[in-house]
Amino acid sequence: MLSMKRALQFVPRRYMAVVTGSHPQVTQPLNYIGGQRVDPANSPNTFNLTSPATGEVLRTVGNAGGKDVDEAVSVAQDAFKTWSKMGGFERGAILKKAANIVRERTEEMARTEVLDTGKPIWEARYDIVSCADTIDYYGGLAAKIAGEYQQLPNGSFAYTIKEPLGVVGGIGAWNYPFQMASWKSSPALAAGNTMVFKPSPFTPLTAVMLAEIYTEAGLPHGCFNVVQGEGETGELLSNHTGVSKMTFTGSVPTGSKIMEACAKQIHHVTLELGGKSPCIIFEDSDLDSAVTGAMLANFLNQGQVCSNGTRVFVQESVMKPFLEKLVERTKAMKIGDPNDEDTTVGATISPEQAHKTLQYIDIGKTEGARVLYGGERVTPSPSLAGGHYIQPCILTGCQDNMRVVREEVFGSVMSVLSFSSDEEVITRANDSEFGLAGGIFTNNLQRAHRVASSLEAGSLYINNYNVYPAGVPFGGYKKSGIGRENGPEALDYYTQIKSVYVEMGSVEAPF
Ligand code: NAD
Repeated sequence: MLSMKRALQFVPRRYMAVVTGSHPQVTQPLNYIGGQRVDPANSPNTFNLTSPATGEVLRTVGNAGGKDVDEAVSVAQDAFKTWSKMGGFERGAILKKAANIVRERTEEMARTEVLDTGKPIWEARYDIVSCADTIDYYGGLAAKIAGEYQQLPNGSFAYTIKEPLGVVGGIGAWNYPFQMASWKSSPALAAGNTMVFKPSPFTPLTAVMLAEIYTEAGLPHGCFNVVQGEGETGELLSNHTGVSKMTFTGSVPTGSKIMEACAKQIHHVTLELGGKSPCIIFEDSDLDSAVTGAMLANFLNQGQVCSNGTRVFVQESVMKPFLEKLVERTKAMKIGDPNDEDTTVGATISPEQAHKTLQYIDIGKTEGARVLYGGERVTPSPSLAGGHYIQPCILTGCQDNMRVVREEVFGSVMSVLSFSSDEEVITRANDSEFGLAGGIFTNNLQRAHRVASSLEAGSLYINNYNVYPAGVPFGGYKKSGIGRENGPEALDYYTQIKSVYVEMGSVEAPF
């Protein structure tokens, strides 16, 4: 598992001086088609790129329209003809080289990610370095993609070939922009597919940097393309007849639309959607670790994490000491400029997301929950007055049927719920339309595994939370999604199987 210490070791000294100020990434064309940055052909519809940290409008971006998406898909189809025929070892070598370039450029990329997202710089560095690991991982697996051989009667046999699907359309959300571009593209490319990727309009910058890095590493032109835009560009991509598969990360309603578009054309689809995961603290846990885990499960990235364990179930007997420790530690979090090294709470992505978060806190209060700590909008300094900064919020007195407990907030709002027995907490934890993740804090080995096997979720953490090693599959049960990213399993979602039967005798037939 990648540790934070290791993430920071990758920061070469010479990049430490790269800070905000002028942003070369902002002024350049942001689409990347056929191996170069290009502006959209004509874009009557535009959107503003805004710095969440300050509220400053950095530039206006044109939505990629039909002509741009057609061109991106067309060059990806052309590139597929050669890329899919290359050996896995050659493809893997290019990915591994790209991973190393990402590592070398960690600081520059992390600063750009901060500019786009408003997340604290140490989180951005961690994201970039762990993405380099993912690209490296699929670089290593590319040469291992292989079918199987089956012996059949009388010397006949069959074998299978794992073939790429074609052009994959990728669409990402704004909370982990570089992660989404690299988690989707690296297994897709390793398996021999090509890709057209659309980042979220809130965070367009680092996916284009990835495209340039792939080119620098030797990826043939047209294999990885980026189109920028809002929902309409996403619709053009997901309805495109030249795309063989869609891989999407975002909300349930948009995921549902993308699945509908894929259903019409019988296209493959992977969906990574929302969550409302449980984080269970048993009385026999190491309470300090459990508090750290609950904070990781709620307050990373201003709470804008799909896998967050926002329903924190605490066993009655340890509720009091747990809350005391939790409040003390949460109060010590520093809300500030995301580019400052000691900031632990940065800016919320947008005014709308900030409003939604504060509104859910109000809904919780109306429903009978009590704000034990936080939940107020603050201005860390006059220069950050245009950004939206919200204190991490701890709600107590929560009940399972409250909206704030059932619905995804996507902000730093932790709902604390009390429980008494294992059976009770398992039933209540599973009472959700989502099933993305879950945490179990206990020092009882059998309890840990019994509860893990009973929870309905794709990723469970025993005595930790929100870690994503490249080799471990990640994805949701129920409305949290379909398919898996990471691990060797992700490659299954970017390949199809051809079975070849070989007859070694003469053909027999009753006619
Ligand atoms: P969103 O669904 O609003 O947007 C996601 C992407 O879809 C954006 O790029 C957007 O432009 C695009 N889009 C919007 N309408 C579209 C349409 N009709 N057709 C095609 N594309 C369209 O989600 P968001 O607000 O960007 O992200 C937050 C959501 O993402 C949360 O629900 C969160 O849980 C989820 N998420 C899930 C994971 C995961 O791995 N499961 C990870 C991160 C975020």
